Amino acid sequence: MPKLKPPVEPGERIQVEITGQSHTGDGVGKVEGFTVFIPLAIAGERVEARVTRVKKTYAHARLEKVLKASPNRVDAPCPVFERCGGCQVQHIAYPVQLEAKRKQVADAFARIGGLENVEVLPVLGMKEPWNYRNKAQVPFGGSRGRVRAGFYAAGSHQIVEFEHCMVQQPENDRAIQRVKERVKELGIPPYDERKHRGVLRHVMVRTGVHTGDVMVVLVTNGPKLPGRQRLVEGLREDIPGLVSLVQNIQPKRTNVVLGPENRILWGEPVIHDTIGPVRFVISPHSFFQVNPAQTEILYEQVKKHAELSGRETVIDAYCGIGTIALCLAEDAARVFGVESIPQAVEDARHNAALNGIDHASFEAGTAEEVMPRWAEEGIRPDVIVVDPPRKGCAPEFLDAAVKMNPDRLVYVSCNPATLARDAAYLKERGYVNHEVQPVDMFPQTGHVECVTVFRKRKEEGRL
Ligand code: SAH
Repeated sequence: MPKLKPPVEPGERIQVEITGQSHTGDGVGKVEGFTVFIPLAIAGERVEARVTRVKKTYAHARLEKVLKASPNRVDAPCPVFERCGGCQVQHIAYPVQLEAKRKQVADAFARIGGLENVEVLPVLGMKEPWNYRNKAQVPFGGSRGRVRAGFYAAGSHQIVEFEHCMVQQPENDRAIQRVKERVKELGIPPYDERKHRGVLRHVMVRTGVHTGDVMVVLVTNGPKLPGRQRLVEGLREDIPGLVSLVQNIQPKRTNVVLGPENRILWGEPVIHDTIGPVRFVISPHSFFQVNPAQTEILYEQVKKHAELSGRETVIDAYCGIGTIALCLAEDAARVFGVESIPQAVEDARHNAALNGIDHASFEAGTAEEVMPRWAEEGIRPDVIVVDPPRKGCAPEFLDAAVKMNPDRLVYVSCNPATLARDAAYLKERGYVNHEVQPVDMFPQTGHVECVTVFRKRKEEGRL
């Protein structure tokens, strides 16, 4: 086939009708049939834009002027919204954000999974879709005299400073600002990514919203932390609720925020929080859902689909610190969890003990290694719950899951594309889903979370 030359060039000014919204929240339109992504443009608008990058099959452009505005356009309340890469869709009315997410999931099922018949329900959103995040992770940069702390601009490592992030719990913001002030005052050098010099790389703050516990993690380029004692004393004074102050050492040239080693500077190595009646310890490396209010709603959906009566054996795969496993435990006979981060598995075991749950056990390892072994060992779950990272489940994992012949497989997904792929894979192996329930865990961003249940297809079901 002859290669067609793209009809646009970098630097060119174009006029585009926006026909859809991409999974990252960009407006999508066509120029002579060629796809153009335009951040900050909204479906239904006509805009003028400047082409910034041209690839073989699509281009990116920068919005210059809205020629015909959508009625769904709202003023983004955050002053740095257009520069910061944290949120992508603050300029779209919230109910429309939710509908765009629903459509994104339906499109993934139709296009990637070839599953047009799966119904995608309206997204369960938040009443107040702001100030929800319990965790902030902020890069530090600049120089000793001019310390910068903020979020990266979209697609770059330029730090956009802010005082108040509209999707963060205010406690997290305040803690970050306090660290910044102390770091300035004590002359602690921020990290220079290009030269791989300096000390403070990132600050992570996590708040237990139900306990008030605050954890601050200072990520440093090496073991040295000049002014350490005074910093610790200062932060203890400044940050109400501080329970855990940790230094994490990340000596590598990498985008991975946390290094392997944690040193407790003051207080506890963990903080506590609760989901429903269950109490959890959370350590710096462990995954913990970032939107506590919506986590309750997400887990209610998991519970509903798990349909437990107290007699079932349940597997929670990709279990993190055991949150789903332990929330289901009171209605199950036996619970197994598997998770790849050893520290999280330790937390999961600790959490089981903390809640007096003695019929849950957790294993460290990848789900794709451990599940086939469990299948060999004869573990026969009635219900499997999976909550994989963005890349979805490995085929080896799904093969083992099917081999275990569970009655239900509840899938929690943060990426509709891999969910749809895995749904098609499971369908070929006799497990089908009919409905997907998206839950808005990340208002103002393009991300969407889903829950769905796969059951053995009736005619192929074995009893
Ligand atoms: N269900 C938990 C965690 C979900 S996040 C909760 O709701 O809090 C996904 C988890 O999968 C993370 O803890 C991550 O460390 C883990 N993980 C990533 N790849 C994995 C793999 N191949 N096998 C097992 N766990 C994995």
